[in-house]
Amino acid sequence: MTISDGSIDDPVGTVIAVLLDGPTCLECVAAKAHVTLDGVAAAILEITKVLEVHSDRSRCGVCDEDALVFCVQKPTRVAASGDVA
Ligand SMILES: [Zn+2]
Repeated sequence: MTISDGSIDDPVGTVIAVLLDGPTCLECVAAKAHVTLDGVAAAILEITKVLEVHSDRSRCGVCDEDALVFCVQKPTRVAASGDVA
């Protein structure tokens, strides 16, 4: 998957990994991905171009606070090995 060319510092992949883990609030994504809140917001914007990002008012899987949380849906269109969701 090519989201953006270039730098290893690109937080997009890291943010995706955090969000795939479960619903996570912005602050926890920032903490886990080691980026600023602005960086997380920018990364989420990038991610929405390639994956479905869901945001909801719910309990954060990391800090357990009721907050606006984000999660991404794993692409299911191409099932490589008979994986039925
Ligand atoms: Zn949190």
